Amino acid sequence: MLHTSIAHAINKQIIVELSAQMTYLSMAAWLEAKSLKGFAKWFKKQADEEHEHAMKFYHFVLERGGSVALTDIPVAQSVWKTPLDIAEGGLAAEQQNTANINSIFELARKHGDYATEVFLHWFIEEQVEEEALMTELIDRVTLTKNHDPALLILDKELGSRE
Ligand code: MG
Repeated sequence: MLHTSIAHAINKQIIVELSAQMTYLSMAAWLEAKSLKGFAKWFKKQADEEHEHAMKFYHFVLERGGSVALTDIPVAQSVWKTPLDIAEGGLAAEQQNTANINSIFELARKHGDYATEVFLHWFIEEQVEEEALMTELIDRVTLTKNHDPALLILDKELGSRE
């Protein structure tokens, strides 16, 4: 059985992941409206991953005898200035998410909840990947210096993400 405080923290994390899904989808919509379809596809993929993360937490809570209580999901930002603005927003969100996951890990450790610790290993590794991915995107967008032809080449490359 999950400790109440851990169940509560994981429920909060489900909301964070769903909120990240909405933010990435909203970024994709903004990019798609600017005809940056490769960027849009890349961010939709991010959104799908965030949904999967939310569901991993969802199933874990239920498996451990906790209950899932979904409260309001914050409204996602829908306007950005540039693709760089979006990539920087993505990195800030991932860094915040890493901090959230680390604090759940600390809570699990405090309560001697080994199962939660082991479960969180995957997320801790995933966050290293997510932050690296978003940092690489910032670097690549920065290299285009907002030069349209370069941005279109990058758009094509991002569109090939599986
Ligand atoms: Mg996530």
